[in-house]
Amino acid sequence: MYRSHTCGQLRTADEGKTVILAGWVQTVRKFGSITFIDLRDRYGITQLLFGEGMNENLNEDSLSREYVLQAEGIVQLRNNKNPQMLTGDIEIKVQRYKILNKSITPPFTIQDDTDGGDDLRMKYRYLDLRRNEVKKNLELRYAVNRSARNYLHENQFIDIETPFLIKSTPEGARDFVVPSRMNAGQFYALPQSPQTFKQLLMVSGYDRYYQIVRCFRDEDLRADRQPEFTQIDCEMSFVEQEDILNMFEGMVKSIFKQVKGVEYSEELPRISWEEAMWVYGSDKPDIRFGMKIANLKSAFKKDGRIIAKGELVNGRGFGIFQQAETILAIAVPGCSEYTRKQLDELTDWVKRPQIGMQGLAYIKCNVDGSFKSSFDKFFGSEDLEAIAEFANAQPGDLVLILAGLEERTRKAISDLRLELGQRLGFRKKEEYKLLWVLDFPLFEYSGEENRWVARHHPFTAPKPDHIGIMIQNDPLIENATDYLNHPYATIKANAYDMVLNGNEIGGGSIRIYQRDLQEKMFTALGMSKEEALHKFGFLLGAFEYGAPPHGGIAFGFDRLCSILGGSESIRDFIAFPKNNSGRDTMLDAPSTIDDKQLKELAIESSAPKS
Ligand code: ASP
Repeated sequence: MYRSHTCGQLRTADEGKTVILAGWVQTVRKFGSITFIDLRDRYGITQLLFGEGMNENLNEDSLSREYVLQAEGIVQLRNNKNPQMLTGDIEIKVQRYKILNKSITPPFTIQDDTDGGDDLRMKYRYLDLRRNEVKKNLELRYAVNRSARNYLHENQFIDIETPFLIKSTPEGARDFVVPSRMNAGQFYALPQSPQTFKQLLMVSGYDRYYQIVRCFRDEDLRADRQPEFTQIDCEMSFVEQEDILNMFEGMVKSIFKQVKGVEYSEELPRISWEEAMWVYGSDKPDIRFGMKIANLKSAFKKDGRIIAKGELVNGRGFGIFQQAETILAIAVPGCSEYTRKQLDELTDWVKRPQIGMQGLAYIKCNVDGSFKSSFDKFFGSEDLEAIAEFANAQPGDLVLILAGLEERTRKAISDLRLELGQRLGFRKKEEYKLLWVLDFPLFEYSGEENRWVARHHPFTAPKPDHIGIMIQNDPLIENATDYLNHPYATIKANAYDMVLNGNEIGGGSIRIYQRDLQEKMFTALGMSKEEALHKFGFLLGAFEYGAPPHGGIAFGFDRLCSILGGSESIRDFIAFPKNNSGRDTMLDAPSTIDDKQLKELAIESSAPKS
């Protein structure tokens, strides 16, 4: 027997028992003739006492950090109890021990506050995984996994695996491809998601499918993405949007209850994409705090006057505001006393290239009822009061105003809102605000490709009332800058995202299930009939054999875990993640392969001949 108990198990009640523990040496502390060793395994740490009355002599010099040790001894109460440790009341008075394996000195200390930097920890990830922090993250991941599975199982979903070696049909991100040895010159692709397979499963009659499945996207890895990531992927037949929202709202609530003990008794708020964009400047709003965006454009008239309480008030005209396509404001609570220096810093912040604004205007709404702004020259106090009111400011607030082109200004004010929310402590990690964002546009215009692209994916159905707009209008656009005036820009989809604390954690849609409509969709996306048949002939064919109405959703499993674990980084919740350049530094992958392998794959070597 290697062990009778784990290193996290023994308590005062076990006093006097003879036990055997096995684990890794965390620390060795020598005091004269006795030595304490903290022994660690997955379950915790137990103190071993060597020296007094041992049957065997301990040669501590032969023992150091990360040795694998087996120790037999008697549980006794400690003189100095450690209330921080679950096993802190007891220790094992060792009688016999055995070194099961040695360890060289690890490249960083394996403890909560490690001295290892990110790169080092990733290179030796198997050691990093011994750390409590990382272990807790993987345990949480498993708890979320189990909770999702339980819920789906109870609701008659069945887990069906779909293939990883599929056909390359890039739409959205780039595919990872795998050369086929048996079909020289041909390639498989790794799935970006099991989208078409789950739809085929609906055609086959498996009306409730799920899979916790790896997906692969060859994207540039900006902020916290992984080339392979995991989705909770689901699909249902004979459902409308409402059925899907209810089912998966239930799943997420049940995960929160089981994993975090957080109960949501109320229905999640739902807002339209349009509203999210106007009120928060983002389709994934963080609603843990207010600071809603006010659209001041309608307040400023062309002749320089402004409207307050529905009436025209004075104003001597401020060119920037009069000419701007959009003027947006947020009222920052309790910040009317910001200093010149603080305001200058914020101005520099919005002028950074990532934000790209020309400047920042402000009104301080002082608690004594007076107003002070960066554009005092142009407006009297009454006007400033009117603008502040438009921005829903209270005495003591600081109104921040950005003006410029619509899309950029919206994005900028949304970023500014989030930044200030963060600085002012409104984005609390332990507060979880979920909501649904609904009614997404079906299409987006890609200036780069000069065509409409599917905002979600090409299998998403237009809202029934909007199908006509798609069928009756030619997708072609004469003048690309004019795309917002094209009828396609008005088409909405039965597509929905679930948002948690400013992150999209899930998204899906009601699907097209008729061949002719799917063909029209491909045409709208600029695909020729031949191309559509070549890429998606299997799906179009399947739709002719009685495809049921269906819809689904997929949740970003890694992201969900990281938010529940209070971390910004999904890497912390993946056992063996890649770095920002898509490399596994532990394996040193990707790597070149030898000429023999290349030859078998009928791929020419690009390596310079030496
Ligand atoms: N397959 C979609 C995605 O990966 C999700 C869905 O529509 O179910 O985003």
